[in-house]
Amino acid sequence: MSDKPEKFIDENGLRLDGRRVDEIRPMTVEMGVLSRADGSCYLEWGNNKVLAAVYGPRELHPRRLQRPSEALVRYRYNMAAFSVEDRIRPGPSRRSTEISKVSGEAFEPVVMKQFYPGAVIDVFAEVLQADAGTRTAAINAATLALVDAGIPMKGLVASCAVGKVDGQLVLDLNKPEDNYGDADLPIAMTEDGEITLLQMDGNLTADEIAKGIEMARKGCEQIFAIQKEALLSKFGTTDEEELLKEAELQAELATSEDEAEDVEVVSEVVSEVVSEVVSEVVSEVALEGEDDELEDEVDEDLELQDEGEAFTDDEVENASDEAEDLFGEDVSEFDINEGTESEGDSSSEPEDAESNEDEGEKNE
Ligand code: ADP
Repeated sequence: MSDKPEKFIDENGLRLDGRRVDEIRPMTVEMGVLSRADGSCYLEWGNNKVLAAVYGPRELHPRRLQRPSEALVRYRYNMAAFSVEDRIRPGPSRRSTEISKVSGEAFEPVVMKQFYPGAVIDVFAEVLQADAGTRTAAINAATLALVDAGIPMKGLVASCAVGKVDGQLVLDLNKPEDNYGDADLPIAMTEDGEITLLQMDGNLTADEIAKGIEMARKGCEQIFAIQKEALLSKFGTTDEEELLKEAELQAELATSEDEAEDVEVVSEVVSEVVSEVVSEVVSEVALEGEDDELEDEVDEDLELQDEGEAFTDDEVENASDEAEDLFGEDVSEFDINEGTESEGDSSSEPEDAESNEDEGEKNE
């Protein structure tokens, strides 16, 4: 471990790594890096390297842990044994257990757990290389891994720490600032500015905490911008030509949806009339040679039904016109009222009658 530096901020206001007090370290993210995970993200932030993987929603075992009205979100923060200068003992520790708990809670207001009752969403954050601020880096990566997994969320979560060195507040501590500084204040927040994680190590006055939170807010805004850029490059585009093509495609889809609705209306009218005609013919055939009294009864029923439901000439004409417009064919040859008008005259359609004979028997 390097010794404590004499000064953390030089006379030009620059820190040991050349940043200003309110600047975050350079951050790069890449989503979808693990093929077996439902969502994943690899993030580098300064010298930190973190991999986040999301599995789920999936069935939770043992079942007694299931929540009847929502999913359980499990967050596991882990530092790889090789992630720091001295090897870390593998497995959970007090520190990693605490970080896992508070980091999981940082997603509480955004993950829409109510959609997956009984399920579990597992978030794994593996620190491959640690260099101060790993819990905040892990939260930033986990947010994108959750989005990558398609978990419904109300928004993103970003996280960064504020500290105090040389009597000044600084954003996003580097390793010497973290090791030898006067305070470390990791914060996570939603896009609405709701604080979802706030821890403190060291000493800060109330005024410094308030100022520190505002500083962290600015840092989180920069992180949200990086996260959104990553989302755009994975799921969207800023290329004007592509956006134009997309808009045209949407317009085409909208038009064809309207047309599909029209077709549906016309075909509903036509199929209603056709089924009426068919049912009459079927009844006639079914009753052929049957009791005259029963035949009269059915005829009477059909007449009553027609009085209430038959289509007017105007309706029929409109339906034909619409069908003609849509299909580009002359459909007027198909007189949809012909069947209803020629009721009782089943002998005029012997072929139909015969072809429906089987059905008639079934309906008997
Ligand atoms: P964070 O990484 O979130 O800032 P800490 O403040 O606890 O968390 O740790 C600061 C840094 O100290 C870590 O980023 C890591 O570089 C180092 N560190 C933490 N735990 C250990 C450990 N067990 N062994 C060696 N280095 C550690």
